[in-house]
Amino acid sequence: MDHVMTCQELVELVTEYLEGTLPADVLTRMEKHLSGCDGCTHYLEQMRQTIRLMGQVREESLTPAQRDDLLRLFRDWNKD
Ligand SMILES: [Zn+2]
Repeated sequence: MDHVMTCQELVELVTEYLEGTLPADVLTRMEKHLSGCDGCTHYLEQMRQTIRLMGQVREESLTPAQRDDLLRLFRDWNKD
């Protein structure tokens, strides 16, 4: 399987990623995506920082509105 993870998929999985609950194969695909995507790398750093500040990851930590904002940002970042 050579499915390339999209930015949207990554955003949806980021909470589980940071909690360390992703299956190994998903984790591999995610890290592959991160190695080639500045937008998601930056996003992940921001999430890590937020979590450090809040002390925990909560299910509702990413609202649909925030997700939309992020996806808009990704589209801008990926516009070459
Ligand atoms: Zn991405």
